[in-house]
Amino acid sequence: MAKSDPIAGVSLWHEESGAFPSQKLTRDLRTDVLVVGAGISGALVAEALSAIGRGVTVIDRHHPADSSTSASTALLLFEIDKPLVVLSEKIGKEKAARVWRRSFRAMQALTEKIRRLKIDCDYKERESLLLPGKVLGPSGLRRECETRAALGLPSRIAERDELKREFNIDRPCAILSGNSAEAHPVKMARGILEKAAANGTKIFSPVEAKSIEATEKHAIVTTKSGHRIHANFVVLCCGYELPKFLVAKSHLIVSTWAAATRPQPENLWRSRALIWEAADPYIYIRTTVDGRVVIGGEDESHNDNERRAKRTPAKIARFRSKLKLLMPQIRFEDEDVEFAWSGAFGASETGLPVIGNVPGLPRVCAVLGFGGNGTTYAQVASEMIANALNGKAEPDLDLFAFGEND
Ligand SMILES: Cc1cc2nc3c(=O)[nH]c(=O)nc-3n(C[C@H](O)[C@H](O)[C@H](O)COP(=O)(O)OP(=O)(O)OC[C@H]3O[C@@H](n4cnc5c(N)ncnc54)[C@H](O)[C@@H]3O)c2cc1C
Repeated sequence: MAKSDPIAGVSLWHEESGAFPSQKLTRDLRTDVLVVGAGISGALVAEALSAIGRGVTVIDRHHPADSSTSASTALLLFEIDKPLVVLSEKIGKEKAARVWRRSFRAMQALTEKIRRLKIDCDYKERESLLLPGKVLGPSGLRRECETRAALGLPSRIAERDELKREFNIDRPCAILSGNSAEAHPVKMARGILEKAAANGTKIFSPVEAKSIEATEKHAIVTTKSGHRIHANFVVLCCGYELPKFLVAKSHLIVSTWAAATRPQPENLWRSRALIWEAADPYIYIRTTVDGRVVIGGEDESHNDNERRAKRTPAKIARFRSKLKLLMPQIRFEDEDVEFAWSGAFGASETGLPVIGNVPGLPRVCAVLGFGGNGTTYAQVASEMIANALNGKAEPDLDLFAFGEND
């Protein structure tokens, strides 16, 4: 394992990783849109563009969906990492409201898309439960809930009695919201890529983009093997690690941990809601279709995979003590933990992604889905880029443009 590897340990989804039908690149190419990166962001962008009739080519230096998408615990939330009241203080009320509304609509659209395209990825609509923590205590949560309700977002306060009865959680209150989901992240990304391929998208791997030249008329990506791909537009969906030709000022790469137990359906809460806390760093908990408990979080601000691997036993111990306090019925002794892994993800000061034209590179845009909501932001990016290339008005370009959150 190298220091710079993106994932340490074995993710719950690793069996789905590996070969995905893709072509070898043996010559120069011309394409309408080139998407660099075949994780969940590249998959959603390729599907959205191919669905509106654009000619799409996707390249990836590894197997599709093998990078941070395969480490994701795939809690799919419209609730972004920064609470609405906190984001309002950072970027102003009006913009924060637009970000939260956009993220809400993106989750609705993602759920509708998975259903309409019949993507087989264990996708289950769930409620989410936000517990009090150091960022928002009980009174902060009540204020957050009122602010959300004023925007028409589907959040309400669950009081202590309900938390005890429905979750066996002893806390003064929490925010219960609708419009969330869980999924198998590798099956989801690959299923979406398959739909893009059915719409005519060509997928090549392993192919690494090395450099890019862009003019007002076209962009040319040169690959590590020296082939040149001429495109009308290029969309960079390279994940947490930015290519050398992409600069985002305050982009940080941080580390995060996750673990999954053996199936224990007898110990799960009835609604199987996704649970997280208003803390920083926070932990989060979900279940899987076969009755496992997945817990993650405990982020640290470094990107060193060897250090991540060494810290895993300590992180498992932290998860255990937190679970014992929160939901003592969940089994999480060493023999119960079947998978433990850690990975890198991109972060920004506001927690918001960067989606937009790369300064100095006309015809090139990038999708940097920062924070713990990478999948929701990938859906937002796919809508924004499809609107832009389809000549449709896109009202939220300013929210995520380069220079705003990078
Ligand atoms: C442990 C963990 C838990 C997480 N949990 C959640 C969660 O619950 N919910 C959620 O929404 N998000 C979660 N995330 C974040 C989520 O995984 C990411 O935001 C998301 O997967 C990013 O997808 P992506 O397609 O942008 O990037 P990636 O999946 O990293 O894909 C980028 C692709 O680009 C390719 N690439 C990069 N550079 C080049 C190049 N120069 N040439 C060619 N190809 C290139 C890579 O090989 C890779 O396949 C989690 C992350 C981790 C690590």
